[in-house]
Amino acid sequence: MVNTAGKFGPYNQQGPSRSAAFRGQSGSELVRSRIALQVRLMALPPQERLPDAGVLAEELGMGEITVRRALEGMCQDGLLDRRRGRAGGTFVAQGWETVVPLLHDADEAASLEAFHLLLECGLVAQGAGEVPAGRLAALQALVDEMDLIEDPARLLMLETRFHLDLAEELGGAGIRELAADLLGRLCLVQPAPAPEVVRARNRCHAELLAELGRGALAPAVQAVKAHPHARPS
Ligand SMILES: [Zn+2]
Repeated sequence: MVNTAGKFGPYNQQGPSRSAAFRGQSGSELVRSRIALQVRLMALPPQERLPDAGVLAEELGMGEITVRRALEGMCQDGLLDRRRGRAGGTFVAQGWETVVPLLHDADEAASLEAFHLLLECGLVAQGAGEVPAGRLAALQALVDEMDLIEDPARLLMLETRFHLDLAEELGGAGIRELAADLLGRLCLVQPAPAPEVVRARNRCHAELLAELGRGALAPAVQAVKAHPHARPS
């Protein structure tokens, strides 16, 4: 039995071509961004074996041929390794972190960030005044955890989780999917923010939750806009 709502999503399955077109990414880009997101979330560490292409295709709601092609492309880029033999398969390359900077694209990163900002402003505007403070407890726990974390990779993982969980809390599972597409793609085209930038962001997260909790629309949107952009570290 294949898990159709596995960690690669989608959370609500509406058919591959439709959702991919809506998201403005080709099927192959979507596979790449989903894998990149799992690496960022530390669910797929370097040297970890990926699920078989058929399982990935099922989880992503995409054709297996598209998935295979995307995996091949990622192998060629050096993001993934193919190993033969009994213990073979497709693995996250040990050099993932050194390959990703070669894929950076400042223009695409800027437009993805702008879209993500619009998405969050819209979600906050839509949700302000209707979010009971109790529903923000899990997000607040993430903010508190981030305040205590030193490890840069863990800090980045929690930063990404915050935005995914925020999207789901304010917009539902489908909007979490959209945020996952944007954030996964950003993992590949944008330098990871330095720890001090993530800490500054976390102060904006805390402010956002406080303002959302008291239903203050304008200050909540302001907190989203104040969230610092990524700059090369
Ligand atoms: Zn953030």
